[in-house]
This record gives sequence, structure tokens and C-alpha cells, in this order.
Amino acid sequence: MKLILHYLYRHIAVFLFSTFFLTMEAIADLLQPTFMSFIVDKGVANASINTILFYGAIMLGIAGIGAISAVMRNNFASRTSQTIGKELRKDMYHKVQQLSLENIDRLQPASIITRITNDVTQVQEFVNSIMRMMIKAPITCIGAIVLIILQTPKQAPVIIAITAVVALLTFGNIKIGYPKFGTVQKRLDRLNGVAREFLSSVRVVKAFNAEDRETQKFDTASLDLASANVAALRVMACFAPLVNLTVNFGIVILLWISRNHEAAHIGKLMASINYMTQVLFAVSMIFNIINTAVRAMASSERIQEVLNEKPAQVQPADPLAPEIRGDIRFENVSFAYAGTGKAALQNINIHIRAGETIGIIGPTGSGKTTLVNLIPRFYDVTEGRLLLDSCDVTQIDIKLIRSAVAVVPQKPLLFSGSIRDNLRWGNETADDAEIREAASIACADSFIRETEHGYDTQLGQAGVNLSGGQKQRLSLARALLRKPRILILDDCTSALDAQTEAAVLNGLHNMCGEMTVLLISQRIYTVRRADRILCLADGMVQGFGSHEELMASCKTYQAIYESQIGSEDNVS
Ligand code: ADP
Ligand code: MG
Repeated sequence: MKLILHYLYRHIAVFLFSTFFLTMEAIADLLQPTFMSFIVDKGVANASINTILFYGAIMLGIAGIGAISAVMRNNFASRTSQTIGKELRKDMYHKVQQLSLENIDRLQPASIITRITNDVTQVQEFVNSIMRMMIKAPITCIGAIVLIILQTPKQAPVIIAITAVVALLTFGNIKIGYPKFGTVQKRLDRLNGVAREFLSSVRVVKAFNAEDRETQKFDTASLDLASANVAALRVMACFAPLVNLTVNFGIVILLWISRNHEAAHIGKLMASINYMTQVLFAVSMIFNIINTAVRAMASSERIQEVLNEKPAQVQPADPLAPEIRGDIRFENVSFAYAGTGKAALQNINIHIRAGETIGIIGPTGSGKTTLVNLIPRFYDVTEGRLLLDSCDVTQIDIKLIRSAVAVVPQKPLLFSGSIRDNLRWGNETADDAEIREAASIACADSFIRETEHGYDTQLGQAGVNLSGGQKQRLSLARALLRKPRILILDDCTSALDAQTEAAVLNGLHNMCGEMTVLLISQRIYTVRRADRILCLADGMVQGFGSHEELMASCKTYQAIYESQIGSEDNVS
């Protein structure tokens, strides 16, 4: 609630304006039946056309004012709620940009998306509904009841009793119906989850011929949603006739107790019945607002959680800006992912000199990716220190680190846009010659030129229209364009055939010069030409040295070598 008030307060002037128009509208609505009673009681009863026209004109004027007020408050309400929605989305998005991977792991990307979209919409709806009706409902409620008592004091108790019964019915309906709509919401989430999972893993599903199973899962989720909806709507459906019945019974009772009154009061009775419907409408509006409020509260808490998330990494107040040459030192480094008890890296002590090419090898889950992710500070060490050119990474300006380090991730990530745009992510000012050079080293130039539009070929979202190997090569070219001091290649040649991989490694070898290269791979063949090789298992260093040294001294390395060379022997 505090959050919503905070954002609403920024638009307090508009809010007050809209409240003013809302009040005008409520008063206009309240005046109409009274003037109608004058028409009936004074004009129709006395057959005076002039009186009828006079009060008719006043009613028209009031209706005009009411209509203008309604248009104005709607306009203000929509504009303000949309603006608040926009501000919330912007603030959340901005916040998420500042968060580290550790925060994002904790909040979960899918949940962040629902919060930025669905939860903001709930809050937006709430702001819209309070600006459109909050003041109006109580004014109408109280005003109409007072007017009923003034107009028809005798019938007032009956009218108020009917209103009370209907209010109780509405309350009961919400009490029973609301949890059912809660279930609907949960099942909708589940259906979304099933659909999202299928769409993101469509290839695997097809490869395993699992379409039927997935369809079955979807059908079940869809059926569950439908039955929850039916149950909720059924409750709502019995309620409307009950209200109608009460109101109509009430009218019969009213006419019955008014039957002995002189005809002059017919107009007043009509006005009172009209006021009664206004009260009923206001009551259901109030319950509606409460309903939206409950949902908005839940959503605002989820939004607040994102906004309150403290970035796990803080930029030092007085950051150092050393010249980064590419000297990397791990001192007693241990690391555990937040929320997991197990250390992903333990007691790492290594020194990588500027300009070295280091191969990193080890079984899956041995901590290779985790190790290199510490260098650009995707995560921070849990224990020990990581030094870049003798400065603790946590003391260095993070922008400086990220501009000196290029990472080619295990899973290449491309964006929709042209191939050229994607490569320029590495270096916005690169010209065509530089782009082509980088693409040639990554063995991407030839396949790009074979496409119909060359470098202007448009990629689908995440580069869906490319093969895995093509994506890897583009992702590598993008990193090379940056001309980084430290180049991290996380198993990024895994989808290339042996010949292309050899060509890429050759190209890299020729260009790397003073660059420090960390080359992760599962294949001995890929890392064996590196200056030194780091062999990891279970988050611990098993050996660090040249191929020959490791062959002589490191058991894990020997085992990997034998399994791979052995299998090649079997093939040939
Ligand atoms: P490799 O790259 O050698 O295959 P990783 O560095 O990816 O291995 O993983 C090392 C260990 O850390 C594994 O046990 C893995 O399950 C765990 N791990 C990796 N990423 C995360 C994460 N984001 N959250 C929690 N645990 C993780
Ligand atoms: Mg990995």
C-alpha cells in the first residue's frame, strides 16, 4: 500500500482534480431523481407542460455537467494509472539492470517478468478504479440514503432494509467467490508454465517424440483451469437472480405500504426507488474496489520485493582504474552459489600471466564456468581474493573490467536484428572491415556471405534461424571485435566440426598476441596447444601445467586423455 501511495503522491494534483470531477459527477447523479420527482409530482399531477419543460431543462443541464465530469475523471484516471504503470515498470527494469546474477538467480527471471507485466497491471487497475469510483461510491451511498429519508420518511426503513440485504448478499458472494477466483488465477499460472516449458524446449520434445505427453499435460492444465472457471462463475451466476428477487420483492412491499397515499407522492416514491438502485450500485462498487485492492496489495508486495532487492555487488566508492594487462591471480578462492550449501570452487590458487593462453579442462559440473565467471564479476568470490593486475577485482571500476574482458558463453546468446548489429554489440564503432576481419577469424565470414543478405541478414529472436555452430561463431566474432585484454571462451567451439574448430583455434592463435585467453573445453584436442592447462574436478585444481607435465603428473588429466584418445582409436 505504501508503494502505491508513494507513486500516487507524485500525481497528487491530477488526483485531486479527478476527485473534484468525481464529486461533481456523484452530485449530478444524486440530483436527477429529485428533479424527476418534481416533474411527476408538480408537472404531471397538475398537467402543467411548462413545469415539466422547466424541470426537464434543469435535468438536462445537470446530466450535461455529470457527463462532462465523467469524461474528465475517466481521462485523468486512465492517464494517471497508465503513467504510474509506466513508472513502476521503468523503476523495476532499471533496478533489475543493477542487480547481479546472484540476485537474479534468487528472484528467478520468469518471476521477474510476471512482476513487471502482470503485477504492475494489477496495481494500475487498482489506481484506475480508485480514481474512477473511490470517492463517488461513499458520496452516492450516504447522499442517496439521506435523500431517501427526506423524500419518503415512511418507506425509508423498508428501502434501507432491502439495501442491507443486498449488501449482505454481495458480501457473501465475494466471500465465497473470491477464493474460487484465486484458484482460477493459480491454474492460469500453471497453464502458462506448461506452455512456456513446452515452447522453450520444443526441440527436445520433438526429438523424444514427446508431443503426446506434452499435449496431455497441457490438456490437463487447460481442463483444470476450465473447471475452476466454471465453479467460480457458477457462484456468481446464482447471485444475480437473488439480488433481482430481493429488489423486486422490496418494490412490491413499498407499493403495498404506499397504496393509501395520495397520488401527489408517486414521484417521490419513484425517486426513492431510483436512489435505492444507486445505493445498490455504490455498494457493489465498494466491494469491487476492495477486491481490486486485495489483488493490488499482493502485487505491490511482489513489486516491492524487486525494488527492495539489494544488489549483491556494490561498486566501490572510490574505484581503482589500473591498466588491465591481463594478469589474473586467484588467491585461496572458494565460491558457493547462494542458497546451495556445497562449494562450487574450493581453495583455488593459480596465477595466470598476461598474454598466456590457458586451457581449462574437466568433467561437466567441475566448476569451469564458475571459475571464469568470477573474472568479469558475474559473481563475487565467497572466500579468498581475485586479483586483476595486482588489484582486487572488487576495488576496480566494474565498467573498466567489463570493457577489458570479453566472454563467449557456453550457450551463445544473440539478439533479434541484423548480423551486423549483433556483431557491433562487441564494439559499436567498428567499421565493416573490422567486422569482416573478426568474422573471418571466427570462421563466420564465409557462411555469412553465403546468406542472401550477407551481414544484413535479419536474425530471429535469439538467433533461432541459425545452427548451433553458426551461433557460436557469431558469438566469438562479437567478442573478438571488442579487442579485449582477456578473452574467455567457455566451451564455445563445442558445436563446430573438427576441421572448423582447428581453423578457428589457428586464427585465434595468430591474432591473440598480448591477449590473455582462457579456453574452456571438454576435449583434450582443443586445449592441448595452450601454454598451460588447468585441470579441474569437483571444484578443485587437479593440475596446472603444460600437456606433457599434466600427462606425467595429473591422474584426472590422464584419465580424460585415455578416454578420448582411446575412443578415437576405437573409431579408427
Ligand atoms: P562446468 O562449467 O565445469 O560444467 P559449472 O561451473 O557450470 O561447471 O558448475 C559447477 C557447479 O556449480 C555444479 O555443481 C553446478 O550444479 C553448480 N552451479 C552452476 N551454476 C549454478 C547456479 N546458477 N546456481 C547454483 N548452482 C550452480
Ligand atoms: Mg560450463
